[in-house]
Amino acid sequence: MIHVKPIKFYDTKSGSLRLFEPVTPGVATIYSCGPTVYNYAHIGNFRNFVFVDVLRRTLRLFGYNIKHVRNITDIDDKIIRKAVEENTTVQAIAAQFESAFFQDCDYLRLQKVEYNPRATEHIVDMIDLVKVLIEKGYTYERDGSVYYKIGRFENYGKLSHIDLSSVRSGARVDSDEYLKEDARDFVLWKGRREHEPYWPAPFGEGRPGWHLECSAMSRHYLGPTFDIHTGAEDLIFPHHENEIAQSEAANGVEYVRYWLHCAFLNMKDQKMSKSLGNIITARKLREDGIDGLAVRYFLLSVHYRKPLAFSMEAIESARTAVNRLQTFYSRIASAAASQSKRQEQDSADPLTRIRSDWYDALGDDLNTAKALGVLFEMLREYNTRMDMDRVDSVLAGELLSFLDEADSILDVMRPDSEDELSSKIDDMIVKRQAARLARDFREADRIRDELSQMGIVLEDTREGVRWRKI
Ligand SMILES: [Zn+2]
Repeated sequence: MIHVKPIKFYDTKSGSLRLFEPVTPGVATIYSCGPTVYNYAHIGNFRNFVFVDVLRRTLRLFGYNIKHVRNITDIDDKIIRKAVEENTTVQAIAAQFESAFFQDCDYLRLQKVEYNPRATEHIVDMIDLVKVLIEKGYTYERDGSVYYKIGRFENYGKLSHIDLSSVRSGARVDSDEYLKEDARDFVLWKGRREHEPYWPAPFGEGRPGWHLECSAMSRHYLGPTFDIHTGAEDLIFPHHENEIAQSEAANGVEYVRYWLHCAFLNMKDQKMSKSLGNIITARKLREDGIDGLAVRYFLLSVHYRKPLAFSMEAIESARTAVNRLQTFYSRIASAAASQSKRQEQDSADPLTRIRSDWYDALGDDLNTAKALGVLFEMLREYNTRMDMDRVDSVLAGELLSFLDEADSILDVMRPDSEDELSSKIDDMIVKRQAARLARDFREADRIRDELSQMGIVLEDTREGVRWRKI
């Protein structure tokens, strides 16, 4: 029997809140459109990646195992253009901005995702997908490129709910500057051009179109049908609509069960975007000495489908909120570690209700704004009770374990993030093993004691040393 807490998501395709029921009980399969690595990502992009981080952490806290893919688009018109501008190679540009992206992820404490495939490492999967589409008659060839024939796919437009008859023939709906039969059609495979990277394929040398990448990589890692697909709201059309057209035509089954889209980050009243020239990169904020936790908190403080506007004042108040939470956390932690005498059980103690309100808020389409409201209510309530000496160490221990659960999602209260904490523990275990092998039992015991002070218990098993938190 698998125990998971119920969670509802707003699904763009059905336009409604739906209870999450994955293909495999207890396992959530997720695909997130990742960065195109040709420049530093701006914090509007990171609003979407922080939302995805909250999503995966919540599913974990709710009892699911996670299989999550976030691709790296490392071949694309924009990267090629940038390489020409900088007089360097496509690989050099992609490598530079891929590593910058991961540094920015660390700055914002984004959890590592299970799979980060690069598009150029999956060309074979993309070619396979195009072959199937050609065999099934969904394509045509023009001037060395292969196009998808939208008219052949009945369900086109079901995700974005747009009326495609309004898209005039000849109008540009896609950024691909190639010849098409119909304006809505899109390129699957771009025929080889001079000075551009290319790969051999049975239908001619060339390179994949952007839409093809996600359909091929999700199929490779998650199979023809998976649970959740995420992206920023500007990807609904045409990118995600095109992914559906490719995958469902090729695989003959439903592509994605839940489509989740994150709203934009605005600068005043405008969307933050490179083309509008009003962007602020995560890198710039870090270089200016802005605490990444304040930025993280700011980005998750509003529900992911609601508008959010960037300002330095908003970052400043996020910093204040983070400080208050951290102070509260350490106050509770020291109360839990103290040997204060047992108080009488307070039948009106609100922890049970607070805990269930917190879970309800997250289970309601990841309502982080509401969940934070619950946490601040807890902070006020228990600060007062502690001032009156009404919190003993046992109760403080219960409060602390709830704060740890809450922070497994927020990741702003504890000095080390979840990932940092586990790698720190792993390092200490390795050092302790080395000390034991060197028969330095004093050092080994010292490390064990240090771990136990962190609430970590070691267990020697046949597979090696395991640890768990108490
Ligand atoms: Zn995508």
